[in-house]
Amino acid sequence: MCADSVGVSDTACIACGAVHWRVRHRIREYTIAQCMCCGLARTCGADFDFTEFYGEDYFVGAVGEKGYNDYFALAGALTRTNRSRVRRLKRMLPTATSLLDVGCGPGFFLEQAKQGGLRTQGLEVSPFAAHYGREQLGLAIDCGAVDPQQLARFTEPFDLVTMWDVIEHLPEPQTAIAQLAGKLSPGGVLALSTGDVASLAARLCGRRWHLYNLPEHLWFFNERSLRLLLERAGLVVERVRREACWYTARYLLDRLMYSLGRPPLKLARMGLFERLNFPVTLGDIVTIHARKPARVAVPACPAPVSAGITNYELQVTN
Ligand SMILES: [Zn+2]
Repeated sequence: MCADSVGVSDTACIACGAVHWRVRHRIREYTIAQCMCCGLARTCGADFDFTEFYGEDYFVGAVGEKGYNDYFALAGALTRTNRSRVRRLKRMLPTATSLLDVGCGPGFFLEQAKQGGLRTQGLEVSPFAAHYGREQLGLAIDCGAVDPQQLARFTEPFDLVTMWDVIEHLPEPQTAIAQLAGKLSPGGVLALSTGDVASLAARLCGRRWHLYNLPEHLWFFNERSLRLLLERAGLVVERVRREACWYTARYLLDRLMYSLGRPPLKLARMGLFERLNFPVTLGDIVTIHARKPARVAVPACPAPVSAGITNYELQVTN
């Protein structure tokens, strides 16, 4: 199948610049087109209002394919993942004092970063989630998208910038990465996680892969396309991992039912399933840490040599 019918056939890939696309899947009314050069895939046919889409119903009581049944029930599991992420970031940059979390949701990661001694700032497109983080958790969270106008409000650079499972939601990830690289201190680290469309799990599951959350997932990266995007922004990839993340048993059941095309289970003892947490990896979540090069130290100009040396040489010669 070619990608002509979905309107991307003459669009340059945001990672490698190629214009060779193929249709990878058709899922409901959407088409997943894939770059034949670097493997980056994108959702075609998604057109929605972001601010409205990520309202309260995205985080709580989501129905059908959209959002979470109860994001807040995941708080305990997320805390365990977030603590290890903060520890890893501090090991990579022990001198770090400031952190910006982009797409921070209600602020569960920011909460752990703050407890880890970092000065934190959040940026979140959902007014509902940003309000929760500010009011319930006492966090500094600005509500808005990743754009130059919004980022200009942060006058100081950040030592650490994080985007956990966010890049796949952004309409223009290449622009966002470049802008965020500009907000990093020299030597600072940008860390992000996202699904890996080249993973064995994604290939085996095909169109039923649990991360084909449509329409909100607009992009599906692999390690190569992520590296290209980060390197284009002047960052140096230092670490690539397939990390295990903590989830509740209920969330895992919900995702399983979604992959099977079934509605969520309504179990009488669902509370028990919300308290049971497990570290899980299918090897299909890639986490990347990339560093902004420190400024190259310019050696001090040597003292003017012409007059003195010439005189000296003249003296010796004479
Ligand atoms: Zn490409």
